[in-house]
Amino acid sequence: KKQQQQNKKGGGKANEEAVTPRSEDFGKWYLDVLKFAELADYGPVRGTMVIRPYGYAIWEQVQSWLDTEFKRTGHKNCYFPQLIPYSFIEKESSHVEGFSPELALVTQGGGKELEEPLVMRPTSETIVNHMFSQWVKSYRDLPLLVNQWANVTRWEMRTRPFVRTLEFLWQEGHTAHATAEEAEAETVQMVRMYEEFAVKMAAMPVVTGRKSRIESFAGADCTYTIEAMMGDKRALQAGTSHNLGQNFAKAFDIRYLDQDGELKHVYQTSWGVSTRMVGGVIMGHGDDKGLRLPPNLAPHQVVILPIGKKDTVDAVNACANEVYEALHSRGVRCVVDDSTGKSPGWKFNYWEMKGVPLRIEIGARDLETKSCVLARRDRPGKEGKTFGVAVEAESLAALVKETLRDIQDGMLADATRFRDDNIVDVTSYEELKSAVEEGKWARGRWAGSDAQEEQVKDETGATLRCFPFDQPGGSGACFMTGKEAKEVAIFAKSY
Ligand code: AMP
Repeated sequence: KKQQQQNKKGGGKANEEAVTPRSEDFGKWYLDVLKFAELADYGPVRGTMVIRPYGYAIWEQVQSWLDTEFKRTGHKNCYFPQLIPYSFIEKESSHVEGFSPELALVTQGGGKELEEPLVMRPTSETIVNHMFSQWVKSYRDLPLLVNQWANVTRWEMRTRPFVRTLEFLWQEGHTAHATAEEAEAETVQMVRMYEEFAVKMAAMPVVTGRKSRIESFAGADCTYTIEAMMGDKRALQAGTSHNLGQNFAKAFDIRYLDQDGELKHVYQTSWGVSTRMVGGVIMGHGDDKGLRLPPNLAPHQVVILPIGKKDTVDAVNACANEVYEALHSRGVRCVVDDSTGKSPGWKFNYWEMKGVPLRIEIGARDLETKSCVLARRDRPGKEGKTFGVAVEAESLAALVKETLRDIQDGMLADATRFRDDNIVDVTSYEELKSAVEEGKWARGRWAGSDAQEEQVKDETGATLRCFPFDQPGGSGACFMTGKEAKEVAIFAKSY
């Protein structure tokens, strides 16, 4: 109750809604944070969402890092149309089978029935490859490396803002290569890039690995994934990279004239990260006070709060602006909250709810000593406070940057410890069941069939998240069948 009192948005005004404690109801807590931190709202159509400016600013941070890395590794951005002829989707048999239940179709245009229904793209392999078949003629055209930032539509039944929506924003990379080896190297390179983003930027210690056959992308030979553990220990597939082999090349007849004069099908990949990543950051780091953003990803790394009374307001605000300039000009993303009509307590709660990693308080008394107070979002109370820091541009900026680095490292360390504490090594199906019942991830040697994988899902609710790249080596008995198994797999309940 005390926490609920403190959590009241608006700092203790009676009758205002409180954030549900995370431990009480994780799902409700998540929705409360989306609302109070002004991240997203529901759209009028079931399963759709409106991304509010603050939520979008986090997405822009995701975009900016990834886009730079895509370009650094030779990929070029382009754009394909959203509407796809239905016949395109039918060309690759497992692709159509996988995506049919999720398709949204346009059957009318300009008031008339269309001759052929159009598909709102659920992903763009078909239309991209329709174009690739015209662009790829010779070995000189390869590798072909493109990416698009776009919206896609999948008619999902179970939805949750950011995590799984009917329409979502993402990037989809599509590549074509001369050899199977090159395509495999590209698939691995991109999942490793996602992993680097998750770890370095989002402080999200993902498990990177290979999906099982039944969890792979419809139309892929092999899917690699990054799996993150959320605050309620559920797994979140936060990004995927697919080796498409020659499946689409054959369906769309993408062939090139090789140096030996022979016509050959290309080998392909596709890979994507979506607005789900924002949901992962919220559910991975948030606490009872709201959002907690890792500094590398935070739209505002620092909030500067001038706390003046009547005759000191102008002087305190001027000092806040000086601090802003000192930090902003040295590359720190910051914001000054000098709004009127709200108490300092209200503002503390508000910016804590928004997850800003560091707060700088400047009061009238600080002016005399030319100092300010730093308060960290990751450590509550006195522990997170540094008193009387000199407002001297160069040294303040250095201290702020060092503190932000420390917060970033601490968040990654905490999340890594949490993940590792909640993965249980199992050697029998019974052990898996009890691990999953406790809400943990189960890791064990696996050589089961597709049917046995389905059985685990039906009986425990846990799915095979991945065969981690990081393997213990050697071999041992599969916990399900007792057969020799070379690899361990991770099973968990997921979003
Ligand atoms: P896919 O191409 O199907 O592997 O999707 C690429 C990535 O997009 C997945 O790894 C998910 O992280 C994300 N994703 C898939 N479906 C949705 C959805 N309905 N809403 C938000 N993100 C999604």
